[in-house]
Amino acid sequence: MNDFQFHRPSSLAEVFDLLSTHGDDARLMAGGTALVMQMKQRLAQPGHVIGLGGLRGAPGLDSIEAAADYHGAMRIGALCTHRQVETSPLVHRQVPLLAEAYRQVATPRIRHMATVGGGLAASIEF
Ligand SMILES: Cc1cc2nc3c(=O)[nH]c(=O)nc-3n(C[C@H](O)[C@H](O)[C@H](O)COP(=O)(O)OP(=O)(O)OC[C@H]3O[C@@H](n4cnc5c(N)ncnc54)[C@H](O)[C@@H]3O)c2cc1C
Repeated sequence: MNDFQFHRPSSLAEVFDLLSTHGDDARLMAGGTALVMQMKQRLAQPGHVIGLGGLRGAPGLDSIEAAADYHGAMRIGALCTHRQVETSPLVHRQVPLLAEAYRQVATPRIRHMATVGGGLAASIEF
């Protein structure tokens, strides 16, 4: 793995500041299950890694809620883990197929770390 500086912002504003300061030399890290592997394989060599762990608990980022503006819809925060989606009573009630799909990903250990946002971003990258 290359040398890098690790940042641990505690607000979205700090995240955006870091991204605009470091540009393409920065990568976000949520669960790290994809990024760490990419870095170990030297497929990614960022000079700055911005850990998103300090944002857990921020409104909307790691919660699953029914969307008030559209019946049957829900909002899933980017920092929700696969395990949260898999076990959410709301997801089970409204979109059981989604809970089942997340249950098929990797192992429970990975699903406890991997986030919805990280999974979507990683699948766009490849
Ligand atoms: C052993 C193993 C088995 C797996 N099996 C499956 C499988 O069966 N099916 C499947 O679909 N996937 C599978 N995966 C992939 C897994 O779903 C992804 O590794 C995981 O979802 C990535 O989430 P993360 O939070 O760990 O992302 P990270 O590794 O932290 O980040 C991944 C990428 O997303 C970016 N990113 C992270 N969070 C955000 C955000 N909030 N906004 C913008 N960009 C962001 C990062 O910069 C990075 O580029 C497997 C992975 C492993 C390690």
